[in-house]
Amino acid sequence: MGFNINIIGTGGTRPLHNRYLSSVLIEYNGDNFLFDCGEGTQMSLRKQKISWQKIKMICITHLHADHITGLLGIIMLMSQSGETRKDPLIIAGPVGIKNYAKTNIDMLKIYKNYEIIYKEIIIDKTEKIIYEDKTKKIEYTRLKHSIECVGYLFIEKDKPGKFNTEKAEELNIPKGPIRKTLQDGKEILINGKIIKPSEILGKSKKGLKVAYITDTGYFKELIQQIKNFNLVIIESTFKNELKKEADKKLHLTAGGAANIVKQAKVLQTGLIHFSERYTLRKDLENLLKEAKLEYPDGEIFLTKDGMRLEASKNNFIIK
Ligand SMILES: [Zn+2]
Ligand SMILES: [Zn+2]
Repeated sequence: MGFNINIIGTGGTRPLHNRYLSSVLIEYNGDNFLFDCGEGTQMSLRKQKISWQKIKMICITHLHADHITGLLGIIMLMSQSGETRKDPLIIAGPVGIKNYAKTNIDMLKIYKNYEIIYKEIIIDKTEKIIYEDKTKKIEYTRLKHSIECVGYLFIEKDKPGKFNTEKAEELNIPKGPIRKTLQDGKEILINGKIIKPSEILGKSKKGLKVAYITDTGYFKELIQQIKNFNLVIIESTFKNELKKEADKKLHLTAGGAANIVKQAKVLQTGLIHFSERYTLRKDLENLLKEAKLEYPDGEIFLTKDGMRLEASKNNFIIK
C-alpha cells in the first residue's frame, strides 16, 4: 500500500544483461500502473516480485519496439497464473496500440480469460485525462519523436484536511451524510447558517505530481506540461557530445533533459532510457554529471533497475 514508484528498467533500444528496457510501475494504494513494456519487462517484474496479475493499466508511450514488445507476454501471463482476473486490463497508447495487441492476440491464438479495454489516444481529439478516480488521474502529453509519442502525467489529487469532530459538535452538525458533504469540500446550511469546509477541516495536503517522459527531442512546450512537478522521470539517452545525433533521432542529451526540468522547476528528476553504448557505471555517472552541471539546484539522480521510490510528504525517498 502507499504511493510508490518501482523502476522496472532503464535502457533504450535493447535489453542488456543488467539493464532491462525503460519501464516504470506506479503503485497507488493497491492499484498498479505500468508505463511501457519492452522486451524483458516480465523478467524484471518477476525479479522485483511484482505480480503482473495486479496491474490495472498499462500505458505505452509509443510503438517503437523497445517500449512495446513485452506487452504480449504480459497479456498472455495474466490468464495463466491460477486465479482469474476480475477486473479488465486497461491498455493506453497512441493510435495503433489496439490493432497491434489485437492482431497479435489473434495470430498467436493467445488464450485470454479476462477483458481488455483499449484507450487509444488520438492527439488533440482524446480527452487529456485518460484515467481518473477519487484519488488520482493520469493525463497524456504529446512528445516530439519520430513517430507519435506521448508522456504520462500521474497526478495525485489534493487530500482534504482532517475533520475536526469537536468543532462539528460545537456547531451542532449532526453525524451522517451532512458531515460527508463538508469533507467533500462543499458548504452546508445548518439552522440558517452557512458552514464552510474550512471551518471544520484542517489544512489540505497537496497531491504529488509525477511525470514519465520518453522518447522525445527537445521542445519548449514540454516545460509548461511538467511545471513544478514533484518528480519527473525523463529520458537522458545521450551525453552532451552527441547532441547532433540526439537532435536528429529526436532524443534528449543529459544536458537537454536537465535544462527542461530546470525551467519547469521540477523538484526531483530521475534520468532514464540510457543508450546501449553506455554499458559502464562510469558512463552513466558522466551523464549525471552533465545533468547536474545544467541544473545544480535540482535533485537529479540516475534511475536504476530495481530502484524503489516511496512517497513522503512533499517528495519521494529513494529506497
Ligand atoms: Zn526508446
Ligand atoms: Zn522511440
